[in-house]
Order: sequence, then structure tokens, then C-alpha cells
Amino acid sequence: MFTKVLVANRGEIACRVMRACRELGVKSVAVYSQADEGSRHVSMADEKVCIGHGTNTESYLNLANVLMAAEVTGAEAIHPGFGYFSESADFADAVRSLGLKFIGPSPESIRAMGDKALAKAAATGANVPVVGGSDGAVPNVDKALEAAAKIGYPVLLKAVAGGGGRGIRAVEDAEELKRAFEIAQAEALASFGSDALLVEKRIVRPRHIEVQVLGDEQGKLLHLYERECSVQNLRHQKIIEEAPGNRLTEEARREICEAAVRAAASVGYYNAGTVEFLYAETGDFYFLEMNTRIQVEHPVTEEVTGMDLVQWQIRIASGESLPFEQADVRLQGHAIEARITAQDPENDFAPSTGVITVWQPPGFRGVRLDTHVSSGFVVSPYYDPMIAKLIVRGEDRADAVRRLAVALEEFRIEGIATNVPFLRRLVAHPDFQAGAVHTGFVPSFLQESLVEA
Ligand code: ADP
Ligand code: ADP
Ligand code: MG
Repeated sequence: MFTKVLVANRGEIACRVMRACRELGVKSVAVYSQADEGSRHVSMADEKVCIGHGTNTESYLNLANVLMAAEVTGAEAIHPGFGYFSESADFADAVRSLGLKFIGPSPESIRAMGDKALAKAAATGANVPVVGGSDGAVPNVDKALEAAAKIGYPVLLKAVAGGGGRGIRAVEDAEELKRAFEIAQAEALASFGSDALLVEKRIVRPRHIEVQVLGDEQGKLLHLYERECSVQNLRHQKIIEEAPGNRLTEEARREICEAAVRAAASVGYYNAGTVEFLYAETGDFYFLEMNTRIQVEHPVTEEVTGMDLVQWQIRIASGESLPFEQADVRLQGHAIEARITAQDPENDFAPSTGVITVWQPPGFRGVRLDTHVSSGFVVSPYYDPMIAKLIVRGEDRADAVRRLAVALEEFRIEGIATNVPFLRRLVAHPDFQAGAVHTGFVPSFLQESLVEA
């Protein structure tokens, strides 16, 4: 096992990784921006290195400073968390070339799955169904029109390097595609450094089902079952995630989990990763992409499998092999996570910043809170608005939903606006209660609320 790990991230995920290190008896190093000086991940770490000013580019995305911090503190490995460098093959390469260990998959796997077009090709090669669309990236608008005509409208234009719900644009017909193509290219270039786009069939009312995989460096690759993340905002960002998925037959569950393992195995995958699918009303499912990192919503899988995913990431990177088999991974109960964000539901979910004067989270049986925040915390404008993840566990889904409603009711936050009031209303909705949601649920819920108001 390592003796010291540097955590190249901030916020709740940095705290999450440091806790895992502590439980494993490993020392942790925090890197932080000046804006995060008083942050919990800084006080939790055994050592800390300031790597720059407030903005991400000046600090958490400053490659040289992050690597320097590892060198000067003598860390042997780097955990990238999610976001930031977590899906950067170049970062993983740089870490490797310094003789340090990147806690995650190989740079080769990251490259193979990081580009949505390459990833779909890998999935197809592994006999995993993909959403119909262009054969790889489309070089110009004519090729895009050709591909769209072949699959039929509506289609999506997607940045092959996109992520976090950004870089996806719905197009209803050829005229709209002609207008949108160059704008989408320019946006992709500005956001992701590549203007490559692919065309994809838009699935109507799909559910988002994803499968957690975990593999060791000796070649054993398993799945830890699925999560459902169909409750997404207007920008395709997940709001509520649960495990297991809703209303899946045992056979469907087995098929989708086995497909995920095939896709991951095809790129020689090890460590933790997630294979994302769209699950259509017909019961067919399609590979979307693979996220080659720990995901925001990993706790719901931990709650229903009893496994600590982040500890496994570290143990696998240190050379340990998985001591259990697929049949040993069992599901128990139901878990739901709600992302608590500093966003104002009364003002189009605009980011809300300032001092949190009151922070009174719920805490009772079956409730877990992953956060870096407490009373007096200053929410700065520099970072992602997520301030906590509220995770509940129940004997079954109905039990978990009731507990989530009670926990949200109890949660008191003052000083800044948060999405908690919105989450309370969402969770009370009959369709959510029934588990009958698809990715269009929140948009139609917002529409309903407008009509009522
Ligand atoms: P997931 O599939 O894991 O749910 P998301 O795309 O919803 O992925 O969330 C990961 C995104 O969160 C990153 O792509 C990034 O935009 C953002 N992010 C990066 N770092 C942090 C952080 N420390 N805290 C919260 N969000 C972050
Ligand atoms: P990202 O890299 O931003 O996470 P994904 O390809 O995983 O992008 O898609 C994010 C979300 O966008 C999906 O969960 C789904 O809600 C929506 N989406 C993506 N592709 C399609 C599609 N072909 N049809 C319908 N919805 C889609
Ligand atoms: Mg995705």
C-alpha cells in the first residue's frame, strides 16, 4: 500500500478520497487554491500545498503546480477525483512519467473511451448496441446532413470530447442542422479543445441507466450493478440518482451489466469506471459513453453493495487484486442520492454565492451526507455549485423515497439559495414516487410548475 497520496481535487470528492486514505492508514496531501484556504479538504489532509489563485485554470487545472506539489511532498500516487484531470490521458501519462501512480485506469483506456466516437466504435466491436448515428465524427455539414437523413430526425449533435451535459444540441430537421452545425463546432472547440462532432439519433423519453465496473490490474473485471440517473435538469445534468435501477427485470439487469463489462474489457479496463446507457421505452438499451473515473453518484452503489469504491480504487492502484467474484457482489435494499447545489430555483437555477449562515443537515438512520460544507462556509463563484450529496438508504425503493422526503424536509440551509425546496417538490411528485421517470421528467415538471404558478 502507498504511504502518501495526493488528492488533485477539491470539495466533497477530495474529502471523500481523504477519508478513504485515512481508513487505509494512508497519509493524504491536499492541493488548494487561495479561495479554498479554509476548506475542509485542506484541514482534513496531513499536508497541504497552495497551488494558485481562485480560478480553476490558475489552480486545480495548473498541471505543473499539481505535479510539483506531488514531488515536493513525496506523494507516491495521485487520486484525481472527478472533473478536473480525472479523464485526462495526458495527465495520467505525466504522472506515470514522473514515476508516480495515477489512481485510475491506464492512459490508453482513457484515450480509447474519452472520445465519444472512438468509444462507440469500441462498444460496437464488443457486441454492445450503440445509439444509431454517424460513423464516427462528421467532418462537415454535408456529411452531418447525410448521416441525419439516414437515421431520421430528430437528431443530436454531440461534441466527441464533451462531458458534464455540455456539448449536446438537439436538432429537429435539416434546416435547423444547417444553422446549428458551425455554431456547435465553434462551441465544442471553445469548451473542449476539439471541434469534432458526431450525429446521433435522439431517443424519445429514454431512461439513463449506467453500470459501475471495477477491475484489478491482474485482469479481473466485475460489475457492481446499475444506477438509474434519469432525473436530469434541462442541461442533461444529473440531479437524483439511485441504485438499483427502477423496473428492470432480472434478465434486463443481467444483459445490461454484462454488456458494460464487455465494453470495458474491450479497452483493457481496470480500476473503477462507469458505462452509461440509454434505456428505451421498448426495452432496448444503447451504449452512450464510458466515464473512466469515479462518478459523483458512486455512493448509491456503495450503499446497496456494501463496498467502498474509493478504497478499492486506491487498493487496486497499489497492486492489490480483487478477492471476490461476480457472484459475491450482491444487492441489498435501495439507495437514492440528491445533489444539493447552491443554485436558486426561483431564479432559473442561477448560482448563489455568499456565506452559509445556517447549515443544519439531517442525520438519522439510513442517511449519509457527503460534503465539504458547514456553517460559516463561503460559497465562491469560482467552482461547481454542488455543495453536498444527500444519500439515503431504505429496505426498498418506497422506504428510501420516504426517508429522502423526511431528510430533505429537515435540511436547513440559510444565507444562500439552494435547490433544496425544488428537490422537496420533485420528490413529492407522483411520477417520481412511482419510479416512472425518464430524462424528460424534470423539463415537464418545470413546465407543470409554470402552469400552476
Ligand atoms: P457524473 O457522471 O459523475 O455524475 P457529472 O458530469 O455529473 O458526472 O459530474 C462531474 C462534473 O462535475 C465534472 O465534469 C465537472 O464539470 C464537475 N466537477 C468537477 N470537479 C468538481 C468538484 N470538485 N465538485 C463538484 N463538481 C465538480
Ligand atoms: P455527457 O458526456 O455530457 O455526460 P452523455 O452522452 O452521457 O453526455 O449524455 C448525457 C445525457 O444527455 C443523457 O443521460 C441523456 O439524458 C441525454 N442524451 C444523450 N444522448 C442522447 C440521445 N441519443 N437521445 C436522447 N437523449 C440523449
Ligand atoms: Mg454522460
